[in-house]
Amino acid sequence: MQRSNKRIQVLPPHVAERIAAGEVIERPASVVKELIENSLDAGATDIMITLEDGGKSLIEIIDNGSGIQPDDLATAIQRHATSKLQSLEDLDRIHTLGFRGEALPSIAAVSDLQILSKTANSNSAYELTGSTFSPLHEKNTIAPPKPVTFGHFINSTHGTRIRVQGLFSQVPARLKFMKSPAAEVSYVREWVERLALAHPETGFKLMSQDRTLLNLRPQSESERVKSVLSDGDECPILSETIDELHSRGFLLRVHWLQGLALPHTRRLAQVVNGRAVRDRLLQQAMLSAFRQSLLPGQFPAAALFIEIQPTLVDLNVHPTKTEIRFLRSQDLFHATQKAYEALLQRHGERVIVASAVQTARNNVLWSAQDSTPTQPRLDFGFQAPHPAASSTTPTPQPLSPLQELFSTSRWAGTLFNTYILYEKGDELILIDQHAADERIRYEQLRSRLSLKPEILGSQVLLIPEVVHFPAENRSEVESRIHYLEALGFEAELFSDEAILFRAIPSEWGTLMLKPRLKSLVDRLLALSDPSQHTSLDSAVFEALASEACHSAIRAGDRLLPEQIQSLFERLQRCEHPWNCPHGRPTIVRIQKSKFEEWFSRKL
Ligand code: ADP
Ligand code: MG
Repeated sequence: MQRSNKRIQVLPPHVAERIAAGEVIERPASVVKELIENSLDAGATDIMITLEDGGKSLIEIIDNGSGIQPDDLATAIQRHATSKLQSLEDLDRIHTLGFRGEALPSIAAVSDLQILSKTANSNSAYELTGSTFSPLHEKNTIAPPKPVTFGHFINSTHGTRIRVQGLFSQVPARLKFMKSPAAEVSYVREWVERLALAHPETGFKLMSQDRTLLNLRPQSESERVKSVLSDGDECPILSETIDELHSRGFLLRVHWLQGLALPHTRRLAQVVNGRAVRDRLLQQAMLSAFRQSLLPGQFPAAALFIEIQPTLVDLNVHPTKTEIRFLRSQDLFHATQKAYEALLQRHGERVIVASAVQTARNNVLWSAQDSTPTQPRLDFGFQAPHPAASSTTPTPQPLSPLQELFSTSRWAGTLFNTYILYEKGDELILIDQHAADERIRYEQLRSRLSLKPEILGSQVLLIPEVVHFPAENRSEVESRIHYLEALGFEAELFSDEAILFRAIPSEWGTLMLKPRLKSLVDRLLALSDPSQHTSLDSAVFEALASEACHSAIRAGDRLLPEQIQSLFERLQRCEHPWNCPHGRPTIVRIQKSKFEEWFSRKL
């Protein structure tokens, strides 16, 4: 390697600034994030973001926050200039999103920046324009801001408009890494959504090329979570609060959009003290709670809000502050996991949402013939456990929330061959037969993981099924076939390129059997190197579970009374009876008072 004899020299300010800016400003979305955070710190209740050309030619943010004093405008773009922190001790009680004084100088270093701002007690707005900034370090050369008329860009007597033009036009290395305008817009949108989620009390509007991409009015937290995470689909939202503020210094609020399951984790949000963050540990805690309840490879739409004493968290780990460090991370991990588990266990109590009722109302649905079921009387009273051999009187086991719900309920018929109806007190309870059956099969398959092969029930096929595979995979099939046997399949190698299935697990059902077995074999082959797994059980389970739902009872299947009874009883035994493995509700409740409303019995 050639050694250079070049002398050490301090970089000229404009070069140093542009290099430093890269830490904070990576792409248009980072500009938008920093500027929105400033608007939020300034107390804005309305923020409008406009993009042109994916943010390459223009990023404009208008807010109705407190504004910047004319005298402070030039200081605001100096490095390490901030109004949010004065001493090192303040770092322990930061309540603002910014505090490093880096965003505006970083943006100014890589773009043409204009700031127009007005405070409530000044008569005029003042504007600082791009060409007046350079070189950044020499404050003296910055021309004083000019008074301008305060256009009524927002309905307020104070506020700020920041325009960023020609982003990275002076930094070709950065410009090269910009993606298409559409891709940059979607990064921006993602950030606006995350910040909007963390600040439901503020309205957000995002425009790109004259199109409105987002328009969120000020809302409650759960409404905002729903608007941002639901992708426009109507679904119930469940929430739970764990208050450990006095004992352990934190409070958690968790929200889950029941009914949405996605093949990615982009709808998982975390907010810590009003800051949208991404923490791997917290994400694991969220997901581990859903592991028993959603299909493998499917992720929930859920939001976690943490309020924590500022002394228990270090925000200053990363320049853009998207990563944080917790002092007692294990505590938070367990509390998060517990909060979601409680939410999943706690049943569909709050599933009685307007949307469910609304749909019912729109379809005016109760036909007379459905209301006189001829089913034999079903007894839903729950018996106390059998007395033990010993002489002690058994303590009655508490009913599960689901058993509680259905105790003293009365079967009231079936609707559309899809919903099983129960009447209880002043409520109508509906079970979705397809969703319930999916849940039951899913848990039965899962329970196989812990069973010994000899207790597994298998269903012998009258005509064995042959499934072909590419001959070059023979050795893999041979070495993995016992995993299938461990789960209740009877399968053997039939030739160099085929497996013969003689029996299948009893939950599997025989509907569309051949393609499902084919896909099972494909999945078995697609498993990564088995030597990497200590146990392949769960990997094979995933292959099995994703096929299980195909065999479930469908909506529209006419069930016999004894099938209904058995479905109902098996649902009672489920660990997570309230939702199907795709996250949709299995049970929905409608109050009698709703019926009275529909029939104008009560005003
Ligand atoms: P920081 O947010 O870390 O303080 P910035 O460089 O982002 O640093 O902003 C510098 C200062 O400019 C802020 O401390 C704040 O006083 C002021 N400022 C920036 N944007 C706004 C805004 N939209 N409204 C009011 N004040 C603002
Ligand atoms: Mg800032």
